[in-house]
Amino acid sequence: MGYMCDFCGEQRSMVYCRSDAACLCLSCDRSVHSANALSKRHSRTLVCERCNAQPATVRCVEERVSLCQNCDWSGHNNNNNNNNSSSSSSHRIIIRGKL
Ligand SMILES: [Zn+2]
Ligand SMILES: [Zn+2]
Ligand SMILES: [Zn+2]
Repeated sequence: MGYMCDFCGEQRSMVYCRSDAACLCLSCDRSVHSANALSKRHSRTLVCERCNAQPATVRCVEERVSLCQNCDWSGHNNNNNNNNSSSSSSHRIIIRGKL
């Protein structure tokens, strides 16, 4: 797993496929997963937009980014130290569906 697509290595990875254990860019995701009926059933999640290394588990509506647990935690917990107690936590939704 890394910043670039595991398949073509040229474009930024956007989607994480659990079945392939691979991060894919959008065009590779489309071509890999339209190949046959079995691969269409792979469940995919977005890749964390901050570290680009982990599958995203949370979507921050306010910042419009998808984040993994680590980045969500480090990003949003800092806010709690400010007087911002209505903090960002309410702006996140848990990603658990398929794309
Ligand atoms: Zn690719
Ligand atoms: Zn797949
Ligand atoms: Zn992350």
